Amino acid sequence: KAQNARQRLPVVPQGIERDDFLKALDELREQLGAEHVEVNNKPLRDGWYMEHPNTHDMMTILDEEELVASAVVFPGSTQEVQQVVRWANKHLIPIFPISMGRNLGYGGAAPRVRGSVTVDLGRRMNAILDINAEDYTCLVEPGVSYYALYEALKARGLDEHMWIDTPDLGGGSVIGNAVDRGVGYTPYGDHWACHAGLEVVLPSGEVIRTGMGALPGNNSWQLFPYGFGPFSDGIFSQSNFGIVTQMGMTLMPNPGGYEAFMYTFPNDEDLGPLMDIIRPLRISNIFENVAQVRHVTQGLASRGLPRSTYYTSPGPIPSSILRAAAASTPVGDHAWAYYGMAYGPAHIRAHKLALIDSEFRRVPGARKIDPSTLPPDEYFWSRERVARGVPDIQELAWVNWAPNGAHIAFSPVSPIRGADAARLFELGKRRVEAAGFDFMPAFVVGLREMHLIVEIVFDRGDVGSKKAALACLRDLVDEAAAMGYGEYRTHLVLMDQIAGTYGWNDGALMKFNEKLKDALDPNGILAPGRCGIWPKRYRGRGWEM
Ligand code: FAD
Repeated sequence: KAQNARQRLPVVPQGIERDDFLKALDELREQLGAEHVEVNNKPLRDGWYMEHPNTHDMMTILDEEELVASAVVFPGSTQEVQQVVRWANKHLIPIFPISMGRNLGYGGAAPRVRGSVTVDLGRRMNAILDINAEDYTCLVEPGVSYYALYEALKARGLDEHMWIDTPDLGGGSVIGNAVDRGVGYTPYGDHWACHAGLEVVLPSGEVIRTGMGALPGNNSWQLFPYGFGPFSDGIFSQSNFGIVTQMGMTLMPNPGGYEAFMYTFPNDEDLGPLMDIIRPLRISNIFENVAQVRHVTQGLASRGLPRSTYYTSPGPIPSSILRAAAASTPVGDHAWAYYGMAYGPAHIRAHKLALIDSEFRRVPGARKIDPSTLPPDEYFWSRERVARGVPDIQELAWVNWAPNGAHIAFSPVSPIRGADAARLFELGKRRVEAAGFDFMPAFVVGLREMHLIVEIVFDRGDVGSKKAALACLRDLVDEAAAMGYGEYRTHLVLMDQIAGTYGWNDGALMKFNEKLKDALDPNGILAPGRCGIWPKRYRGRGWEM
């Protein structure tokens, strides 16, 4: 509170005098309208998920002032995005685009370079440009959230006809999540794979449309992502090569029925056999959605009560206390819960569910939970909603585990194999518990791979807690890389380290990325350092961390 009462002097991007910067902002005000350019001189407020800040990361792992914007601008059209980009080139000011800025756990709305001007696309560019009920596609601007898309389908009477795919939290941007290669939990859960067609403003200010969008008068931009020639879309995900102003997304036909199910498994050691059961079923599409195998620790945290409800000493909760606390929950005295969904009419579901049941029961002690015994506010129903494309925010509950709860994730990719799951479980448990945190693993099963997601929930009001979480993450990343596991996505502060782990052949991939960056963005104005890609003007000058 004391800190919030202070007025802040706005941060200025490095390399430009304060007065010149303020004059440059005036120039932008003339182009966009004064009300669409805000200097970040107010006290930083963290708000909460639905009222999050766009100036910094509300769940910061560093000091809040470290990765902070100097100003936030709100373009209202692709042309205005082009104007902002040209302005940035003229004044050599770093800009950082966000769609909605709810990238929590990965840096929130913060820019990678302190003092960047945040380009908040979502506030004014939030139109649903098309919903095509025959082709099951849509075309959206950056400010369209999962909630907004869902409500639009409802308003047009199409929500029974087709489904969206939402991540655990529905307040994010359909574009922002996809360009960061986020995931959801229906059969359309790989969001990047399900997009079709981009409009992108390049760092030079030029605008391109990819795939069929490059052909004037086409009517298949959202139907065939490739068009002709090199498939350029990939370089606009997890990068800093362009600002996406429109994106097409495929939508899922209503499958004609669904049934959520949940199984639990008694022991930590059941993980290996369970993964070997899941792999063939997932690859052959008996398990149809991106499903989750969650440890009881996260199950307990998902109830929303702080860990102090169960245990007040420092250090990880002893297993006996954890299990006793979970005894009254659907997971009971078991270690793992599998949340899945079967799609289609009843007779088709019955066939798949019978197969799944017999396979899961090969794990001794496996238990099927009867959903009809679960009250409506049980976490299971949040998973059920998300798995049928209904946006939700109940998942936020586990962030309350620590006081001033914030989180950062370790998320390595591996085969869906028992031996890999067991190695990663051992690594995560050892490191996370040694750092004094509770170990909350969840295995998110894609198609032929899985991401282990280990959320470290820390106290963002406690410097020691933040330091311990970050040090633990850094150790996890390095040790996992030495074992052959790399992250699928990461937080701003870990991007350099993780890009470094993808260093095969003397860093050949990063050299290629740098060549692209220097060709597309010679002044290095667009999101310098994002995903470890530094433009020439910044490279080797101590920006990496
Ligand atoms: P933004 O913050 O707008 O964008 C993310 C990043 O992409 C930006 O920082 C920017 O660098 C880049 N970017 C955004 N828009 C553009 C653009 N138009 N052009 C170029 N670059 C751009 N995530 C998941 O994927 N799946 C989950 O299940 C999930 N569960 C979560 C659960 C909890 C409890 C929490 C707290 C977070 C979870 N997240 C999950 C993380 C996060 O909330 C979502 O991924 C969210 O959708 C990202 O925020 P956003 O959509 O507002 O994207």
